Amino acid sequence: MIKKYYLLSPGPTPIPEKVLSVAAEPIIHHRTSEFSDIFMDVVEGLKYVFQTKEDVFVLTSSGTGAMEMAVANLINPGDKVITINGGKFGERWGQICRAYGAEVREIVLEWGDDFTKDQLAEELKAHPETKVVFTTLSETSSGTVYDIQGYGEVVAQTEAVLVVDGISGLGATPCPMDEWQVDVMVSGSQKSFMIPPGLAYIAFSPKAWRLVEASTCPKYYFDAKKYKKSLAKRTTPYTPGVSLIIQQKKALDIIREQGLEKIFEHHRILGEATRAGVKAIGLELLSKRPGNILTAVKVPAGIDGLQLVKIMQGKYMAYIAGGQDPYKGKIFRIAHLGYMGGFDIITALTALEMTLSELGYKFEKGQAIKAAEEILMENWE
Ligand SMILES: *Cc1c(COP(=O)(O)O)cnc(C)c1O
Repeated sequence: MIKKYYLLSPGPTPIPEKVLSVAAEPIIHHRTSEFSDIFMDVVEGLKYVFQTKEDVFVLTSSGTGAMEMAVANLINPGDKVITINGGKFGERWGQICRAYGAEVREIVLEWGDDFTKDQLAEELKAHPETKVVFTTLSETSSGTVYDIQGYGEVVAQTEAVLVVDGISGLGATPCPMDEWQVDVMVSGSQKSFMIPPGLAYIAFSPKAWRLVEASTCPKYYFDAKKYKKSLAKRTTPYTPGVSLIIQQKKALDIIREQGLEKIFEHHRILGEATRAGVKAIGLELLSKRPGNILTAVKVPAGIDGLQLVKIMQGKYMAYIAGGQDPYKGKIFRIAHLGYMGGFDIITALTALEMTLSELGYKFEKGQAIKAAEEILMENWE
């Protein structure tokens, strides 16, 4: 058969046709009012998605650049910080903080396990000198969404600031920055923002900005003060990813038109349909707090997980993600994030059933699709 490519990974995610086509337009210069108008419209759209009244800075880097900016601008070498490591991306906070000379208390969780706000409160009580708590909204390596609202309540009662990596979660699952007392929110362009990789976004609360003012860490490209100064002049300090920003304007127009509430509800339905589908054929989820961004599924006993991903991606070109690091070969991840519809879930589950069948897994074919279809039908308006 002639194969068709289906992108079902948690970043990069598929891009709406209307957003793809604007990238083909002739490039415009970035120091023009024409570009500034587009840029400021993007900043307004980002504030809508972040649910903040603070400035949102646009970086031309991948999401990790915004994580690095958070660290480099908040801490001084020797500062004590807490990082919550529930997977590959939570682990990254610890790595960046150590690179900048912080003294890191790293809370290492089993992938998929919860960490409650009460546990965080105890940590902060035991370590009152903590300056920053770094955590993740949606841990993309394990499909887990943490209680950011609870963490916000706890951290707000201390001197510390709360930094949240919202790179896969923001714009797909609720996390209103100001209302939930998040001090620094970080995100990236290639997940729920529905454009290619290459831009990162970051916003600071007034409480966090006081640390920015006092930070002595060496930095240059990611100096937040430079971005603030430039934003007041409707621009960025260095040449921005012009075409990506123009694409982001188009995608944010779509997001604003649909509205966040509807987008969150859409992801809830896709998440529920996916979970119902995999459970219907006897598979188990990795996460104890599964989010609606992606679903991490345990590879059943006796099945070669590497082979499963290889067949899905290679033979069926249903590009799901495998497991990372210790979970390579042990889990696979189906994304339902960004520009995806109900039938993308059916595609993923059909390819999964065909793959499992080929690998000799015993189950009744069609059950995953049937279960997902029922959720979609119940919720389809
Ligand atoms: C994708 C992702 C990142 C990494 O972003 P890059 O754009 O690859 O730098 C960080 N955190 C989370 C939660 C992610 O999903």
